[in-house]
Amino acid sequence: MITKIQKLDKEEYDIEELEEAAQILRAGGLVAFPTETVYGLGGNALDAEVSKKIYAAKGRPSDNPLIVHISNAKDIEKLAKNIPDRAYKLAEVFWPGPLTLILFKDSSVPYSTTGGLDTVAIRLPANKIARDLIEQSGIYIAAPSANLSGKPSPTKAEHVITDLNGKIDMIIDGGNATLGLESTILDLTMEEPMLLRPGCITKTMLENTIGPIACDPAILSRNPSNNIVPKAPGMKYRHYAPEGSLTIYEGKLDDVIKTINEEAKAKIAGGSRVGIIATEETKQYYQYGDVMTVGSRNDEASIAAGLYNILRQFDELKTEYIFTESFENNALGHAIMNRLIKAAGYHIVNVSK
Ligand code: AMP
Ligand code: MG
Repeated sequence: MITKIQKLDKEEYDIEELEEAAQILRAGGLVAFPTETVYGLGGNALDAEVSKKIYAAKGRPSDNPLIVHISNAKDIEKLAKNIPDRAYKLAEVFWPGPLTLILFKDSSVPYSTTGGLDTVAIRLPANKIARDLIEQSGIYIAAPSANLSGKPSPTKAEHVITDLNGKIDMIIDGGNATLGLESTILDLTMEEPMLLRPGCITKTMLENTIGPIACDPAILSRNPSNNIVPKAPGMKYRHYAPEGSLTIYEGKLDDVIKTINEEAKAKIAGGSRVGIIATEETKQYYQYGDVMTVGSRNDEASIAAGLYNILRQFDELKTEYIFTESFENNALGHAIMNRLIKAAGYHIVNVSK
């Protein structure tokens, strides 16, 4: 299959320019498009055969459900039933935006889209191209991240091209995904709402709107063998992972830098290619390997936005060992550390103990 690549300036395009993509989607094809979180791989959410095509293109296990993207908040009523008031409150405050709500599914949503579950994940994205595309196609669009299963999510069209060129009908290149981490997922099907995946909309932001919420204990588990099965099926897989071996160093920052320098020196002496994930504040202190700056410690959003791109750059360099600093575990740092821990396959070293 030849994948058509269409470039769009997200500030300035004519809605008609989305018609070809919309037509592909209506006809049961697959189109990757930008959202504010990461690039999504879109297809008709209500067509069971299309969901199967999405799983096949990504190499994704079919028990890992897809998020359904809508362009109008009212559409939750078409896709879900027994919708609690909280859902409307959250939609009012956070949509369009990086929040996915889990609700009981309507019978129109096929089980292949929900990975066999009686619940459905729904999001109204903020990215204008994404919303216009949904609107123009006139359908609901199932769109998991547009990467091969297990790889870091794509934050640029080039990442999608690397993973899916030749496997899908079209890729819309609309520039960088500005946030860089997947949406926050909140399950509203239980008595107490539960955070299933942290993201840019933090637990505190949600609690300020609907009161206390629980946190899936699997989210920050640091031990994969403790048998805590995450409630979002996708969170159980090794994820976001670079090809090389990634290790997180935590503890006092001075000690972290010292240890990373020692480890990097030793690995390079052994003939390996080494990469270091540094920050604006620390980059000058690293002496060995390919040092890449993910963002600033004073601006966690910059770290979120840069993380997956760096992991993919290390893949391109065929980096064998990647060493990273760790980050605060609150607010946005909660989401950053959740992804980093999974990307590292739970390989965390505390240097100050
Ligand atoms: P992605 O779109 O690639 O970010 O992946 C979607 C994420 O949403 C995966 O982690 C899924 O397991 C999760 N998800 C989708 N639908 C549901 C659902 N009905 N219940 C719980 N988690 C879900
Ligand atoms: Mg994904």
